[in-house]
This record gives sequence, C-alpha cells and structure tokens, in this order.
Amino acid sequence: MTSFEQGWLEEGWRHVWLPYAQMQTAPLPLAAVRTAGSKIHLADGRVLVDGIASWWTSCHGYNHPHIIAAVTAQLQDMPHVMFGGLGHEPAYRLATRLAKLMPGTLNRVFFSDSGSVAVEVAMKIAVQARLNRGERGRTKVLAFLGGYHGDTFGTMAICDPEEGMHSLFAGLLQEHPVIALPRDAPSIAAFELFLEEHAGNLAAIIVEPLVQGAGGMVFHAPEVLQRLRAAADHYGLTLIFDEIFTGFGRTGTMFAFEHAGVLPDIVTLSKALTGGTSPLAVTIATDELFAAFLSDSAGTALQHGPTFMANPLGCAAANAGLDLFETEPRLGQAAAISAQLSRELAPCRELPGVRDVRVLGAIGVVQLARIENPAALRMALVEKGVWVRPFRDILYLTPALTIAADELAVLTRAIFEVVAAA
Ligand SMILES: *Cc1c(COP(=O)(O)O)cnc(C)c1O
Repeated sequence: MTSFEQGWLEEGWRHVWLPYAQMQTAPLPLAAVRTAGSKIHLADGRVLVDGIASWWTSCHGYNHPHIIAAVTAQLQDMPHVMFGGLGHEPAYRLATRLAKLMPGTLNRVFFSDSGSVAVEVAMKIAVQARLNRGERGRTKVLAFLGGYHGDTFGTMAICDPEEGMHSLFAGLLQEHPVIALPRDAPSIAAFELFLEEHAGNLAAIIVEPLVQGAGGMVFHAPEVLQRLRAAADHYGLTLIFDEIFTGFGRTGTMFAFEHAGVLPDIVTLSKALTGGTSPLAVTIATDELFAAFLSDSAGTALQHGPTFMANPLGCAAANAGLDLFETEPRLGQAAAISAQLSRELAPCRELPGVRDVRVLGAIGVVQLARIENPAALRMALVEKGVWVRPFRDILYLTPALTIAADELAVLTRAIFEVVAAA
C-alpha cells in the first residue's frame, strides 16, 4: 500500500465504520483529496478516472462551476432554515420546476434527505391515502425480486429478500410480497395470479423502471412497465417508480418511464438530483393522491418531516443542476456515451468468463460467470488509473454524463484488460 504524509487516514481508520464492509478484512481506503470533472485526485498524487460517478450521483462531473457558484451564494445567504412554517426560494422554485418537468398530474413534491427516506415517504403516502379514504387493510406494497429501494427497515422489506436480509431480520421487518418481475410468459402468469388472489391487501406496486441498479444492473423492457401500469389501473393500486438511480438522463431520457410512455402515481428521485453535491431527495405525487390528504381534520395530514428536509444548499445545487440540463446537451452526451460503451465494451464478449455485455443509455455492464475477489479486481483497476467498483458478478460503468471520450476510453480499456487478465 501507499504511504501517507497525513496521519488522519490511519488514525481515523480506528474510528470509522464503512458501508457494506467486513471491517476485519477491509483494506484501508484510498485517500481522496480533490475532485474535478471525471477525475478523483488521491493524496499520493495519483489521479483516477471515475467510472461510476460516486454511486451514480455526479452526473454533471465533479465541481461544476455553475453548481459551485449557486451553492456558494446560498451558503452566504442561508445555509439552512427549517421547512416547517418557513418557506425559501430554492425549495419553492425547485418544486415548481420538478412539477413542470413531470408529465401528467405529478405536481406535489415532498422533500427529504436520502433516497431511502423518499421511498419510505412514497410507501406512507400510498398507504395513508387509502386510510384517509376509509379503506382499511390495504397496507402491503408489491415489490420485485432483484429490486433495491434502500437500507432503512421500511425499505429493506421491499428489497430483494436476499439483498434486504429478510431472513436475518425476520420478525422485525414488515412483510411485503416480493415476486418475479412480469417479463416472460411464466412470470406474467404468476404476476396475474398473484394479483387476482392478493390485490385486496395491496396499496401499491413499486419498481425501479427499466434498470434494477443495486441488484446487478439488470435491464427489463418498457413493456414490463406498461403491464404494471395496466395492472395498477385494473386493481386500483398506486404505482411507484423509484427513479433514484435512473432519473436525470442515466437511461438516455430524462426519466426512465419516458421509454415506456406510461406514468406512475409517485416518483422518487435522489442520487443525481443535486449533481452529486449534497444529500437531497424528493417524493413526487399526483394531484389525486395529494387530494386524499385534504380534509377539515389534522388527522389526515401526511405525518412526516425530516429535520433537514429541503435543505437550501441541496435545493440550490438541484436548481443549478436543472439549469445545466437546459443549457448543456446532457441527453446528447448520454447518447454519445451509450454509443461509445456499446462499441468499446463489445470486445469483452469474446473473453473467457464473460456471460453478458449490455448497454442502456449511459450504463455499460460486463457480467462475468463470477467474481471471486471484488476488492482485488478493484485494486487492479486502480493500478490502471480508474475508479470502478465491481460487485456481485458485474463490472459496470455509469460515468458522469460530461465525461470526455478519451476518459471513457481509458475506462473501457481498463475493464477489457482486467477481465482479459482474470
Ligand atoms: C440508492 C438507491 C436508493 C436509496 O437511496 P439512499 O440515498 O442510499 O438512501 C433507493 N432506490 C434506488 C433505486 C437506489 O438506487
């Protein structure tokens, strides 16, 4: 390993607890000191090309001057103020812009501070809307195998049972049905049978539209979403599209549901919302759902309110990010990335051990038969000057939409070389 001038890494290493890491064997992380565009600068002077945009967040590249200017100005004026009883322009403007961006009657924006909480709020809206209308007993949310919606207990219960550790936490987790996505004849038949028997207990259906991200970057056809919409309409269920990963151009359109031409009743957004600048999430609901919370009684109000909801710095970053979608050619860049990923990852198909190579929008995936040691593979990639995190059986690229063609070529070449050497 590299030696460090700074003592903070080794000293702090005795005190931090890393995500998803076995701390007994986890290697010391790389010390990151600066970011710019698609590059991460390390304390030892090395510079890595970032292939995953910090967990799919920094869609405009790191340190975009327009976002920096907006957040800096907001920091001077008012870093934060509570959202209960006080309104501020960054949030009210952002809500207006998001509602304009969303088709149909998706007009009501609830702010929170993480994707998991945005999904919890979506579930709460779906269930409480029914309770407010006097419909009891419809409290279940139908979710799908391979899905990921967050790490809180509420969202774990609608993740894939393995991903959400349903057996480890049995008894503690709410029980929601998790079944196969209706994508082929047998799963469609099972889906329809399930609804016939159990729709009476359901409040909602939740899905990551087009791509199950954390579940292994598994794609499904737009027809699946059309089928879910038809079923939700038939049984009177709330359809939730969790676009926390797919939103903001990642699949080639601003939102993934545009590929299918169907609308959900609730959308959740986070990750790229602030261009990776700060934590912020939204749950956007239709006017119809919102109306179910209106009455003469405080008892039907939506009972949720994170302390840092609608944080002005995050909202300023998100407004600046939306400016960039208008002033810079993000969707064109996503299309160019898509074409380059298809071209440059295709040769991986010929390598031994490769099971699949797939591309959708600015997402490129090389799936192997198996990955024995993801940490070792990650370090081999670092040696080639790239930051890519293999997980499960895949190596994937979800770069900033602003990445330069030569930087993307460094990433695809590194992936080809490590897979060829494996
Ligand atoms: C990341 C993610 C979440 C959870 O967001 P957090 O901010 O990590 O809580 C939920 N749903 C999807 C689809 C995600 O990709």
